[in-house]
Amino acid sequence: MNIPNIYKIKGMRCVSCASIIERTIKKIDGVESVSVNNGTENAKISFNTEKTSPEMFNQKLEPLGYSLVLQTAEGMGMTENEHAKHLGLHQSKKEKLKEINEMKNGVLGVLPLAGISIFIKGWEIFGKYNLVVPMSDTMYRFFHHLLPLFAMYILITIGKPYLLGIYRFFRHGKANMDTLIGLGTTVAFVYSFILSAFDPVLAPYLNVDYKYYDVTIVVLSFVALGKYLEAKSKIKTGDAIEKLLGLQVKTALVIRNGKEEEVNVNQVVSGDVVIIKPGSKIPVDGEVIEGKSFIDESMITGEPIPVEKNIDAQVVAGTINTTGTFNFRATKIGSETLLSHIIKMVEEAQGSKAPIQALVDKISSVFVPVVLGLAIIAFGGWLYFGVSIFGLGGALGFAIVAFVGILVIACPCALGLATPTAIIVGVGKGAKEGILVKDAATLETLYKANIIMVDKTGTITKGKPELTKVQALGNKNEKDIISILATLESKSEHPIAQAIVNYAKEKNIDIKSISNFEIIKGKGLKGTIGDTEYFAGNLKIISDLNISYNPESLEQETKQGKTPVLLADKNTLLGIVFVADPIKPEAIETVKTLHKLQKKVLMLSGDNKNTAEYIAKIVGIDKVFAEVMPDDKLNIIKDLQMKGNIVAMVGDGVNDAPALAQANVGIAMGTGTDVAIESAGITLLGGDISKLVKAVKLSKITMRGIKQNLFWAFIYNIVGIPLAGGVFYPVFGWLLSPAFAGFAMAMSSVSVVLNSLRIKAKKL
Ligand code: ADP
Ligand code: MG
Repeated sequence: MNIPNIYKIKGMRCVSCASIIERTIKKIDGVESVSVNNGTENAKISFNTEKTSPEMFNQKLEPLGYSLVLQTAEGMGMTENEHAKHLGLHQSKKEKLKEINEMKNGVLGVLPLAGISIFIKGWEIFGKYNLVVPMSDTMYRFFHHLLPLFAMYILITIGKPYLLGIYRFFRHGKANMDTLIGLGTTVAFVYSFILSAFDPVLAPYLNVDYKYYDVTIVVLSFVALGKYLEAKSKIKTGDAIEKLLGLQVKTALVIRNGKEEEVNVNQVVSGDVVIIKPGSKIPVDGEVIEGKSFIDESMITGEPIPVEKNIDAQVVAGTINTTGTFNFRATKIGSETLLSHIIKMVEEAQGSKAPIQALVDKISSVFVPVVLGLAIIAFGGWLYFGVSIFGLGGALGFAIVAFVGILVIACPCALGLATPTAIIVGVGKGAKEGILVKDAATLETLYKANIIMVDKTGTITKGKPELTKVQALGNKNEKDIISILATLESKSEHPIAQAIVNYAKEKNIDIKSISNFEIIKGKGLKGTIGDTEYFAGNLKIISDLNISYNPESLEQETKQGKTPVLLADKNTLLGIVFVADPIKPEAIETVKTLHKLQKKVLMLSGDNKNTAEYIAKIVGIDKVFAEVMPDDKLNIIKDLQMKGNIVAMVGDGVNDAPALAQANVGIAMGTGTDVAIESAGITLLGGDISKLVKAVKLSKITMRGIKQNLFWAFIYNIVGIPLAGGVFYPVFGWLLSPAFAGFAMAMSSVSVVLNSLRIKAKKL
């Protein structure tokens, strides 16, 4: 059996690790696919359980310094798998915090040493030009015996991972970021140490005054500082999921054997009656059966105003009751709750890769060997061309500086962090606003979409139409018409049906029994009441029955946006009712803003042409496709795509599912618990259409963040590597000090993560 599974990875230090892990696991027999995300530090592995196992992966990974976090699931309500995953995420977050704390202590231990060596170096340089009092000979000797000790100390404390990086490189042939930094700093140290030890012997050949202990000290200290700052800010990128996990409730008050009893939330079963007291959290999803209250659903939908819940209303796990008391019947528990779905979706989306990342992945998989090659070329180049100009001693000095400089300035980390950190923050920000994004690719595509297609009913209009007029034709009275219609519609889920049934209830008109009920797709419905077969729906039904009717007589109403529902038996038209579905007040503003964001807004509707056009005009829609049969909705989108458009489609996600799937991005308007989260690329919770604008802005902000990150990370390496290699020296006399290179490299990753975190603060 092949099962894709997500594992937390320990020991990841940079994006070069991601490609090492990917390649190592891919080679194992039985592994189908593997994708490692260095933003979330997760690996998604699909493998044949008969041929291999996670333990086997660890056997291969551990010698390289990595491991997958494997937990034993204790089956808690969720499926074992999900539970294990959550457990893993929690544990590793704690471990991560501990790790970060250790990093902090390490940094605090070495920064003073870095400070001292910078001070000494500065004194030496300024002293030479008589800018400060020059160092006395004794001082000079004292300090220069101190620096090797500092360097040694740093190498064996915070330098350990880098030494291991070198070891693994020679032992297993796998080089990562640590290998580069390790090689750079140890070469500097060993070279300096040889000069110190054999100073009199080497003096005639080499420039023994130039030692590079400070490089080892400063580079390692700065890299440690950078890693610490990076880890500290990176953990902040994932706090959205922490908040969602925190919404899960541990216990519930249920009625068992007629008594109130507090039970573990995992013991609640579907059908249980759950008691909710003022101020408590809703433990599982369900339906109110007694009492009423207002519920704060902001954590799920992003809407700050508490929502009134009466009998039959849906309540959602994780939301908070305000002051009322009520009972509800549990309908969805454990991994089926909306909250569990949201958590799963956010987790997966944050771990998914944006298409824009593909190039970066390619680059980072060859980055380390290429940089190593460039460093060797620079070393060789300086020696070869430098000897005749600077002598062997001078040339060797330059060669070492260039070699070390390239190794420590080159940074695939910044490149590797550019996309995932922005995606994590973007997806998390969305979740907070009630915008659920399925994967990174969706955000990227929405950003590129030029057409936003909206469904009319339930998207632009409230989807809660009301009956506004009844017209009896022929020999039946209005009451009969409503009675028959309501009976037919009582079997339908369409919003129109609800309007008619509600009206009948209000007027206390009976609903009869019905047989042979059938939905006529895109047109209406039919059924037999008594001995008569009745048909109800739009004009298409009437023309299918070959009943002659002049559609112009409907115009007065349809041109005001009202939808006609015609009732007929096999031969005659019996009556017409009109329903009006109010336009959502925020729809007009939404379309206006989408236009400002350079998106065309089109509307699709199965409804009457006049009705749809009336609404489109009020809302400011660019083009309407009306009287569209459900299957044609999909074809219209296909057509637009063939013409080169990228289409985002917004619908209710239930009856528009095929169109949503065809669109480049399917956006579902979710209301309550019945959201078809998995089928849509983006789900807007709470049914507020203005969230569409927020989703578009979110995609824009996130993509802009990614592009800025990538731009700076690329530029940094493109400029940094030749600068450190001394390419500009012959012309401008520029050669970067390796210590400064270390500082720059540390800051490059930090700045990428900080830039991604800025997305959090942007207004949608
Ligand atoms: P839409 O989501 O745009 O309403 P549908 O395919 O669901 O598209 O319906 C198309 C049209 O068929 C409706 O606009 C309406 O005129 C008619 N129709 C569908 N279902 C019903 C129903 N239950 N009662 C009356 N008319 C219906
Ligand atoms: Mg619809």
